[in-house]
Amino acid sequence: MKIIDKLLINGEWVDGEAGTTIDVLNPYDNSLIAKVAEAKEADVDKAVAAAKAAMTVWKSFSASERGHFLLKLADKIEENAEELAQLETMDTGHPIRDTRNLDVQRTAYCFRYFGGMADKLEGSVIPVDSGFLNYMDRQPIGVVGQIVPWNFPLMFTSWKMAPALAAGNTVVIKPAELTPLSTLRIADLMMEVGIPAGVVNVIVGRGSIAGQHLAEHEDVGKICFTGSTAVGEKIIQASAKTIKKVQLELGGKGANIIFEDANIPAAVGGSAFAIFHNQGQACIAGSRLIIHENVVDEFLEKFTALAKSIKVGDPTDPATEMGPLTSQMHLDRVLEYCKIAKEQGGEFLTGGHQPDDETLKKGCFVMPTIVKCKSTDRVFHEEVFGPFVVVTTFKTDEEAMELANATEYGLGSGLWTSNISRAHKFAREIHAGMVWINCYKRVNPASPFGGVGRSGYGREMGFEAMREYTVAKSIWVNIDAKIPPFYPR
Ligand code: NAD
Repeated sequence: MKIIDKLLINGEWVDGEAGTTIDVLNPYDNSLIAKVAEAKEADVDKAVAAAKAAMTVWKSFSASERGHFLLKLADKIEENAEELAQLETMDTGHPIRDTRNLDVQRTAYCFRYFGGMADKLEGSVIPVDSGFLNYMDRQPIGVVGQIVPWNFPLMFTSWKMAPALAAGNTVVIKPAELTPLSTLRIADLMMEVGIPAGVVNVIVGRGSIAGQHLAEHEDVGKICFTGSTAVGEKIIQASAKTIKKVQLELGGKGANIIFEDANIPAAVGGSAFAIFHNQGQACIAGSRLIIHENVVDEFLEKFTALAKSIKVGDPTDPATEMGPLTSQMHLDRVLEYCKIAKEQGGEFLTGGHQPDDETLKKGCFVMPTIVKCKSTDRVFHEEVFGPFVVVTTFKTDEEAMELANATEYGLGSGLWTSNISRAHKFAREIHAGMVWINCYKRVNPASPFGGVGRSGYGREMGFEAMREYTVAKSIWVNIDAKIPPFYPR
């Protein structure tokens, strides 16, 4: 397994100017994996300068040539799939069965999708006044800054870099300081397939230093951020002086509604995936179960039994279904929410604590947790970002809608029903960027991904992402117009 502990600036693997490093830990047992070079302001400046200079080179390639690099990269990722899966599991704690079957495959799929998209991005001819030709050209923004969180580092690296590069931009990417290893290895594979020096630069650094400086930088045309809503607010402020384009994918508190006419076994399985996959560390997690009171007992009996049967353990074991949370700091945060839920009278059906197994106590583990709560409780509103789901009940569709929309967030949400009219009515009226009907957490590179409200703005994936990474330029040509003089003399 190749572990890279340097920054990538202008095609070179380098240490940070200040010579400091960041400890990268394995959350299974909090052991040290690597000390990775830390980027500070001076390194960010160098990376941005390299990306700015590389625009000339990147622009000299045709769109299909740019796409071809990404297609070759997708193949490379598949050739190195097992290594990437092991690396991601070690760095994040995701079970190996997930990194093998989901994260790595989705990463290759995303680069391949946008590789194919590169030469499909067209402008348009706009019917305007006679005598004029008006056309719209889609042009790259220039240098884009990208800030990646720690929950799906490999996949989110592809979601951010693939459309940006396909659209002709150059990139300075900052992985989360907790989980930089897969982003560094992807950048290494990018160089192997011949992406020119400076087109992609990786700076591993702390958010408040390197991230903040990237967001403020005058030569960065756009900043794309995934992470907490609190940091999203800081990014907006940091970007304000340079009026740069901002795209934000922030927190969520996804409603997952179980109607009386739902297929209960399907809803139980889908709802477990919605909250327990990746230890619940997903902005789109279905973290609020809103259940019709006529089926709540049946649903919860089956759902709780499933949660109790989830195999929690060593993430490198293919039989493990749930690994540790990604850091000790985050474990402390999730356990604090368990305490808050108890203090506010939450009824725990299972979980709320670390596993009893002494070996697992060395790592960042927490058991799958289900809590019946009131809609006024903090855990109903605040994002826990763990395998922690709250349950409330309803009698009427109006009550269900009110509970679903009783949140400042608006990212993902789901509903389970056999009534097609109700399904579409809810899909239309739920305050969210994505709605899943009789399924949950489906994602695909072709389908736009993003939120509304305090979950952010802008869309990753699909054609929308190509729009996000370009500027529409309007060009007017006088081909035959007799323009009357505005100031007749
Ligand atoms: P965070 O938002 O602080 O970190 C995400 C990324 O932002 C990291 O790369 C970090 O270095 C960077 N960052 C932090 N401060 C910054 C700043 N001032 N300027 C620029 N970049 C900065 O997330 P966290 O503190 O590690 O986690 C806290 C909570 O965030 C979680 O519990 C969860 O609620 C939420 N979160 C959401 C997502 C998501 O997918 N939407 C991902 C991670 C965390």
